[in-house]
This record gives sequence, C-alpha cells and structure tokens, in this order.
Amino acid sequence: MKDTLKFLIDLQEKDSGILKKRAFIDKVPLRIFEKDEPLKRANVELESIKHKNEALLKKKRDKEASLNDINEKINKMKSRAADLKTNKEYQAHLKEIETFEKDISTAEENILMIMEELDNSLKQQEEKAKNVASETDKINAFKKELEQEVEKYEKELSLLKDEREKLSSAIDPDTYKTYMTLLKTGSGVAVTQAKNEICLGCDMNIPPQLFVELKKNQEIIQCQQCRRILYYSDTE
Ligand SMILES: [Zn+2]
Repeated sequence: MKDTLKFLIDLQEKDSGILKKRAFIDKVPLRIFEKDEPLKRANVELESIKHKNEALLKKKRDKEASLNDINEKINKMKSRAADLKTNKEYQAHLKEIETFEKDISTAEENILMIMEELDNSLKQQEEKAKNVASETDKINAFKKELEQEVEKYEKELSLLKDEREKLSSAIDPDTYKTYMTLLKTGSGVAVTQAKNEICLGCDMNIPPQLFVELKKNQEIIQCQQCRRILYYSDTE
C-alpha cells in the first residue's frame, strides 16, 4: 500500500477516536441533567409535604389557641356565678356555659383529627426525605463515574492528538487539506473502505474499472458520489 494512503487511513482512525471521545465528553452535562430528574422530583415532593405539614401545625396551634380562649371565657363566667340574683339569670348562665362546653368538645375533636393527619403526614415527610438522600447518593455516584471516564478520555485524547500531529506532518499539504475538508463535509469520515465494489461511506456502487484501480491501493482515489478517499480491504 502506498504510504500516503496508509497515513490517511491511520489519521482517519485517530480522528474517529478523537471525535468519539469528544462527543462523549460534550454529552456529559446533558447526561447529568437527565439523570438529575428523579432527584429534582424527589425534592419537589419533599418541599410540598413540608409545606403541608407546616400548614397543619399552624392549624393545630390556632385551634389550641381558640380552645384556650373558650376555657378562659368559661372560667370568667363561672367566677361571675355568685353575682347572679334570679333563678332565670342562673338558668341562662348555665345554658351559656353548656354552649361553650360543646364548643370545647368540638375544638378538641378537631385538634385530635389534625394531630392524626399530621402524624401520618410527618411519616410521609420522613419517607420523602429518605428518597431525596438516596437519589442524591445515586446522582453523586453517577457524576463521579463520569468524571473518572472523562479524565481517562482526556488523557487518551491528548495521546491521539500527538499521534495525529505526527501523521499529518507526514502527509503532503494538499492531500492533508483535502482530507480536512472531507472530514468536515463527510460528518467526520474522510477516508473510507471500499468493499464488493461499494463505497462504505455512502453505499454507492463504484464503477468496475475504478474498483480495479482501487484494489491496488496505490493512488488516492475519491468516491465519485461522496468524494471520500477510498481504500480497498475485504475485511471489516
Ligand atoms: Zn462514497
């Protein structure tokens, strides 16, 4: 095989490796963003139940305060009992106290119901908090794993760049320029294999006469369809 063609094939191999590793690194923020979804959801759920519980606590305190008010009122009324003169006044007084006592019993029932609801809801809050902790652990482990991979890829990239630098200087400038143009227009593939009279870059047929030339791997031959530089190999 002609040296230039061999260098071009090697260069393509390095560039394919560089592109693949860059694509991996570029995609890392998006992958983290997507993986972060369950944690975001868990946080929203936790915040929502926290608000619910704060509201329940406030409701409970309000009910307790109004219960105190009623008790105070009853005590005041009872202390006034000695001032009552007639039986009629006394009966009215007892009736009033009875009404307030009913209010007390209603308020106490309400408080009990709120406490029960709050008890359940606080258990749910605990579950939601555990969920946040476990999702945080998961995303942190995922980030760490990616960081290690990125670090490994960065090292490999730097090696590949050195290797491509050496290869590119061994190729004549005009051919290298053509290669670089094709790399851009060919979505990262400038050099491709020809097999069974087909260009594997664009899947188009290669004219038989051209294929005969190609099989010699001596000239720089471009696909008539996609312009990519072709080389012949019957292996994958
Ligand atoms: Zn082609």
